[in-house]
Amino acid sequence: MTSHLHAVRLLPAAGAKGESGIMGGFSKRTKDELARVMPKHRCCRRAELAGLLHGAGSLHLSQRGFAVTAAFENAAVVRKALKLLKAEFQYAPQIVAEQTRRLRQRRRYLLILDNPGDAEGILRELGIMNRGFVLEGGISPELVKDECCRAAFLRGVFLARGSITDPQKKSYHLEFVTENEDFASGLCYLMNLCKFKARMGKRKTSFVVYLKDVEMIARFLTFISAHAALLQLEEIRVLKGMREEINRLVNCDTANLEKTVSAAMSQIDLISKLIDSGGLERLPESLREVAMLRLEHPEASLKELGELAVPRMSKSAINHRMRRLREWVKKYAEEEGIIPDWAN
Ligand SMILES: [Zn+2]
Repeated sequence: MTSHLHAVRLLPAAGAKGESGIMGGFSKRTKDELARVMPKHRCCRRAELAGLLHGAGSLHLSQRGFAVTAAFENAAVVRKALKLLKAEFQYAPQIVAEQTRRLRQRRRYLLILDNPGDAEGILRELGIMNRGFVLEGGISPELVKDECCRAAFLRGVFLARGSITDPQKKSYHLEFVTENEDFASGLCYLMNLCKFKARMGKRKTSFVVYLKDVEMIARFLTFISAHAALLQLEEIRVLKGMREEINRLVNCDTANLEKTVSAAMSQIDLISKLIDSGGLERLPESLREVAMLRLEHPEASLKELGELAVPRMSKSAINHRMRRLREWVKKYAEEEGIIPDWAN
């Protein structure tokens, strides 16, 4: 180990401000929530521990044998791994805090199983190691044969390797990133066995298993027991949906308004021509009334024209008179033979 590592005696308490506090994004809050979920069954506790170690761990072969180093960025998550190891194997690994200096200062916690006998035993028990062979990427089918254990395993992997974008952002996205192609394939297979329609892609030297569909993301959060995160996702989704609906209505109103305006323009055009030809005098009283209303209120909708009429008229009554006006003008134009293409 290099000198920038130093042993940590005490990890910050759960819920303390700072690394594990309320600050931070949606992804971190989701992990903080999941770190508090403790599986009831032994099978699930082991599956989750396997997910955590498989996701975050790397194996080293030294002269003494195997050693595992699992790196976590979230203090609550490393505490959970520690708790599970103690509960299942009565094993207290070495924990080291490391300050990474890439981009911004960030703390990383290394959980080290460096006692070769213990490490090997634990890996074997968790199905990560099989008769001396390490199942590098493969996920032991035995470990995830029950649905309860699949959920626990995936929760473990999500805690170690997963992230979710803030649902406030434009598109929904949940992903696992790993450098191990076999593990990514196995993970994608398991996700799809649970019907999440996951997809796999490559990003530089890493492999990404991801969900884009918000329904699937919501189902996945439910599956791994991220209930508070799910609630928040759903709330934001409803708000986003309302915003879209309002936009749709506004656009729809604009379209209607354009239709109203163009209808009014053609009515005004027709009436103006009638006036120019001296035909207004011969227009029946009821039609002349509507024609004058239209000229006085060029921007009004038919409904508004109806309200302006004395006595008031319904929208359909105004519409009916407008049609009759058009027909009357057409007939008048034909009879007079003056302006043949007026009322078309
Ligand atoms: Zn189980």
